[in-house]
Amino acid sequence: MNLTRRTFTAAVLLVLAALFAASAVAGEKAEKADKISVLVIDGQNGHNWKATTPVIKELLEKTGRFTVEVLTSPPARSPKEAWAKFNPDFSKYAVVLSNYQGDAWPDEVARNFEKYVDGGGGFVAYHFASAAFPQWDAYNKMIGMGWSRDPKSNEGLYIDENGKEVRRAKGEGRGGFHGAAHVFECSVYDKDSPLTKGLPAKWSHIKDELYGSLRGPAKDMHILVTAFSDKDKGGTGMNEPMAWTVPFGKGRVFVNVLGHDVPETAAPDTAVLLARGCEWAATGAVTIPVPADFPKLAPPAAAPPAKAAEKPKAEAK
Ligand SMILES: [Zn+2]
Repeated sequence: MNLTRRTFTAAVLLVLAALFAASAVAGEKAEKADKISVLVIDGQNGHNWKATTPVIKELLEKTGRFTVEVLTSPPARSPKEAWAKFNPDFSKYAVVLSNYQGDAWPDEVARNFEKYVDGGGGFVAYHFASAAFPQWDAYNKMIGMGWSRDPKSNEGLYIDENGKEVRRAKGEGRGGFHGAAHVFECSVYDKDSPLTKGLPAKWSHIKDELYGSLRGPAKDMHILVTAFSDKDKGGTGMNEPMAWTVPFGKGRVFVNVLGHDVPETAAPDTAVLLARGCEWAATGAVTIPVPADFPKLAPPAAAPPAKAAEKPKAEAK
């Protein structure tokens, strides 16, 4: 009798547990369905990708808008067999975010990626992903301009002192570079874009690299944010694009070159630009709000402190 009762109780508990698990899975599925799926690709990069990818994952997940998966490529100079395992099904994701700069992807992966973006997939290139794949024509079109592109055969785009877009001609000046990292001012260039809506017109960005003279086909670029690249800081003397979009077939591409390492990427301005860029690349719209801790414009450098009126006292002997 006892045994039967116990068996019965156990059976009821099992059924309840199964029901609970099923409803939890259903709930999770429903929640997942509302979210934008992002694939972050890393594995090679002249930068600290092992530290920045978790920051990117967290800043995206924190918005509640995304589910994020990370795909890590084989290390540099890996044999073909290692690359055979790197064959993402891009179509499973609404956005691909690249934190990758390194060896060329296998042809099949590259063609699949082109098809994915051309067919309407979203792509976000983060900081040094703008130095990836200089030999890949479609990638060059997607990002508009980047590092490691020959300035003799590539154009570029900057904003002059009157706010006018100016093309850097082939052979004019050097290729992509940056001066010493410093705190610099970012300015919204297109205040009507959903990507910049609600951002202050100008703000101070954390000490970071200020990319300049980037090169590429620079076609159909829609510039969102610029920064003045001061010659005194080793820059170009022009307003350089920091964030922009490029259409590629039916796909939307967002490029953000801010965010060299962990602090620069976690900075609230970089973080919201990356998150909004992912949302926009996936949906064409932006709902992610500007955070309360978004940086303000730093006040002009204060006058040097007044000299101490008193003569310093001689050290006690
Ligand atoms: Zn960097």
